[in-house]
Amino acid sequence: MPLASYAMDVRQSRGRRYPEKPHPYRTDYARDRGRVIHARAFRRLEAKTQVFTTRFSDHFRNRLTHTLEVTQIARTVAGALSLNTELAEALALVHDIGHPPFGHAGEHMLDRRMREFGERFDHNLHALRIVERFEQRYLDFPGLNLTFEVREGIVKHSRDYAATEFPALAEYSLDERPPIEAQLIDLVDEIAYDTADLDDGFEAHLVDLDDLRSKAPVFDGAFADVERQHPSGRRQLKFNEALKRVLDYLATDLIENTRKQIDASGVVTIEDVKRQANRLASLSPEAGRAAASLKHFLNMRLYTNAAISDERERSVAELDALFTLFLENPGRMPPNYVAQARQEPLHRVVCDYIAGMTDQFLLRQYQELIGAPVARRS
Ligand code: MG
Repeated sequence: MPLASYAMDVRQSRGRRYPEKPHPYRTDYARDRGRVIHARAFRRLEAKTQVFTTRFSDHFRNRLTHTLEVTQIARTVAGALSLNTELAEALALVHDIGHPPFGHAGEHMLDRRMREFGERFDHNLHALRIVERFEQRYLDFPGLNLTFEVREGIVKHSRDYAATEFPALAEYSLDERPPIEAQLIDLVDEIAYDTADLDDGFEAHLVDLDDLRSKAPVFDGAFADVERQHPSGRRQLKFNEALKRVLDYLATDLIENTRKQIDASGVVTIEDVKRQANRLASLSPEAGRAAASLKHFLNMRLYTNAAISDERERSVAELDALFTLFLENPGRMPPNYVAQARQEPLHRVVCDYIAGMTDQFLLRQYQELIGAPVARRS
C-alpha cells in the first residue's frame, strides 16, 4: 500500500550519524528494526518485569513479550493509517529498551538517587545512551548507529521534553512534533498494557470479574455482549473474548480518531505534522475515558495489591542498597565500569551499571554482595 503524504518516507530520512552504504533489499528502517532485535539490551527485556515476576508463573508477560504485543498493535494501527509500518515497528521494538530493573518503581529509585547529585534518570534518555554508546556490535561505529527518526522517536515517543531543560537533546528539535509513527507508540503501549495487565491479573486471581465489570463500563459492555452470544461458554474464555474486544475497540478508535485529527488539521506533508502545535495521534474523548477507567482499576486493584507491591518494594530497596554499595566501593563493579568511572562521574557510571541489569541479576548481585535483608527507605 502506498504511504500517505504525511507519513515518514524513508527516502526523506535525516540518516545515520555515521553514513553507511544502502542495503539492496532492506530499507534503513527495516535495518534499524533488525538492529534493535539483535541488541543485547533487547534480549535483556526477557528478564525484566512487566507487572508479575516469574515467581508467580511463567505464563505472564515480561517486558519482551509486552514489547512484541506493542509491536503487533503498532503495525496494525500504522498500516491502517498508511503510515510507515517499518518505522512504527522499529519504534515499538525499542520503546522499553531503556527500562531499568523493576519497571517504573526502579526508574523512580534511580531518579531519586541521581537527584542527590543534581542529575536525573529517565528511561527514554537512558535508551538513547544504550543505542548510541553501550551497544558495541560494529567495527565502524559505537552503538547501533540508528537513523535519526528512530533516535528521535526514542526521545519523543512518550512525552515532549523542553528544549531549555534538556540542551543536550537540541539536535532533536524539541519544539517540533515527532512523525505520527512515533506519536502512536505511547498510546499503543497503553492499550497493550492496560488489557494485558487485566489478563494476567485475572489469571493470577487478583482481578475479580464483577469488580472489574462494576468499575469499567467498557469492559462490562463487552462482557455482556459476549454473554449474550455464548451464554454457556467457559468463564475464562468469556473474559478473554471480552478483553480482546476492548483491545480491538481501543485500537480501532485510535485509528479512526487519529484519521479524523489528520483530516481536520489539513496536514499534507511530514513537515506539516512537525509544525502542528499538538500531537495528531489520539483516542477520542469517549475511548480516552474508557482507557482511563481501566487504568484507574489497575492502579486501585492490581499495581497496589500487596501480592505485587511488597515484592516490588523489597526489590527496589535492594536496588537502592546496591547503588550505595557501588558508590562506596566502585571496585565491586566489573572492570570496564571501574575504568569508565575515571572518565565520568562515579554516580553516573553506577546508575548506568544498575540500569542495565535484569531483575534477576540485580537480586543475585544483592545476595552475593550484601545478603542481609534491607530496611525499606521511607
Ligand atoms: Mg511499554
